[in-house]
Amino acid sequence: MADSKEQSADEHYFGRLAQGAFEIPRCRACDGHHFFPRVICPFCGSDDLQWVAPSGYGRVYSTSVVRGKASSHNVCLVDLDEGPRLMSRVVGIEPDAVAIGARVKANITQEDGAALLVFSPAGEDK
Ligand SMILES: [Zn+2]
Repeated sequence: MADSKEQSADEHYFGRLAQGAFEIPRCRACDGHHFFPRVICPFCGSDDLQWVAPSGYGRVYSTSVVRGKASSHNVCLVDLDEGPRLMSRVVGIEPDAVAIGARVKANITQEDGAALLVFSPAGEDK
């Protein structure tokens, strides 16, 4: 992380998220994107990484519903178009209406005073 040596990858990620920016590490050596952020590329071992803003688009890989007392919410794994798979939730539709393979787009929301990455349904042409 050339631009943030003193900062851990986690701190950079959540710091940028709090500012409204979703960024993931990209490896300059092999062009791979990965998540969760690490300081070494999990594909080739290079530390020549940079932070980039992904398209935000992805596809639901798996989905489930967490049922709470007051409300239920969705928990899903999303495959970003850039490759990484990350755990999140789909908002904006009923938790059990989220379909595997559905196109989704990343949004940043606030929950309990912290920035949280969520996804909402996107058109199939995206
Ligand atoms: Zn690499």
